[in-house]
Amino acid sequence: MPPPTSLYVARRKAERIDAPLVSLIVPVFNEEEVIEQFLDVVGNILAREGLAHEFVFIDDGSRDRTAAILSERLSTGLPGCLIGLSRNFGKEAALTAGLDHANGDVAIVLDADLQDPPELIPQMIEGWRAGYDVVYGLRVDRTSDSAVKRGSASAFYRLFNRLSNIDLPANAGDFRLIDRRVIEALRDLPERNRFMKGLFAWVGFSAMALPYERPARAAGTTKWNYWKLWNFALDGLTGFSTVPLRVWFYCGAGIATLAFAYALYLVLRTLLFGADMPGYASTMTAILFFSGIQLLSIGIVGEYVARLFNETKQRPIYLVRDVIAGASARKQADKSDGDADA
Ligand code: UDP
Ligand code: MG
Repeated sequence: MPPPTSLYVARRKAERIDAPLVSLIVPVFNEEEVIEQFLDVVGNILAREGLAHEFVFIDDGSRDRTAAILSERLSTGLPGCLIGLSRNFGKEAALTAGLDHANGDVAIVLDADLQDPPELIPQMIEGWRAGYDVVYGLRVDRTSDSAVKRGSASAFYRLFNRLSNIDLPANAGDFRLIDRRVIEALRDLPERNRFMKGLFAWVGFSAMALPYERPARAAGTTKWNYWKLWNFALDGLTGFSTVPLRVWFYCGAGIATLAFAYALYLVLRTLLFGADMPGYASTMTAILFFSGIQLLSIGIVGEYVARLFNETKQRPIYLVRDVIAGASARKQADKSDGDADA
């Protein structure tokens, strides 16, 4: 299934810079406790800034009232749409769906739980007007996360940047503004493994960091657990680095050299001093060591094979159950322009 073509029509540059249409891409999964507050806070900021905008909500298989609340708001004047996915596909797939359906000159990706402070939207737009294609939020303070989460996150970023060719800024999340060009670039990436942070970094373009303090969730609970995070990290590493596959070549070469030297020693010793039988401990150690190494390396190869398997199936990244459209953002913008003229 080719990705849906968005309705975006390129406008003149000056017009875009002056009065951009901003698409707010918001994945939601069981966010009934916080979504109203989110709409109020973000709505106020956008109104204050006078930004033409549309919301692109992606309902990632919520089983609570999130979709009902949003479609109610869309039917009473909220600009944008709600893309209902057929089940829970995960945040990465939801973001992909959002990018596919955004019509704006710029898009801002933000979580529904107000952990990505919407107060930064004006600064992001400013950065974009100054010429940056990407303005990403950089968490300077992660005290709202547990020590374990912080520690594992920093280890992950270090490892990722060591192993891959792209530069993943540590402590940058998905919260960012991206220009239309970046949206199109991301839509061109066909892979099924959507490690969005990595894809954002991979496409490049000029980027500016915007430091911020990450608050705790406004309401509701996180949708992540450590097992999910571990798999997410594996997806990221295997999606952007082949070092884990190649490292076995060097391991193998090192071990083979040692084995050769040891064999030589054994032969010489046998020639000089005759054969001796004892050697149970060293034989067992060698067997266990090498079977361990082999299983480990096969396991890593397996990780990549599994990912190849998923990619070759070519299944769509997400399936849309329904799309609920709200007010048109352009019409709203035109109306407010008209009001200003009147
Ligand atoms: N989310 C989603 N699908 C999922 C999990 C999360 O769309 O399977 C959304 C969620 O509704 C929220 C955002 O992704 O808007 C971030 O989720 P969460 O706050 O649970 O993650 P955390 O901030 O704890 O990393
Ligand atoms: Mg959150």
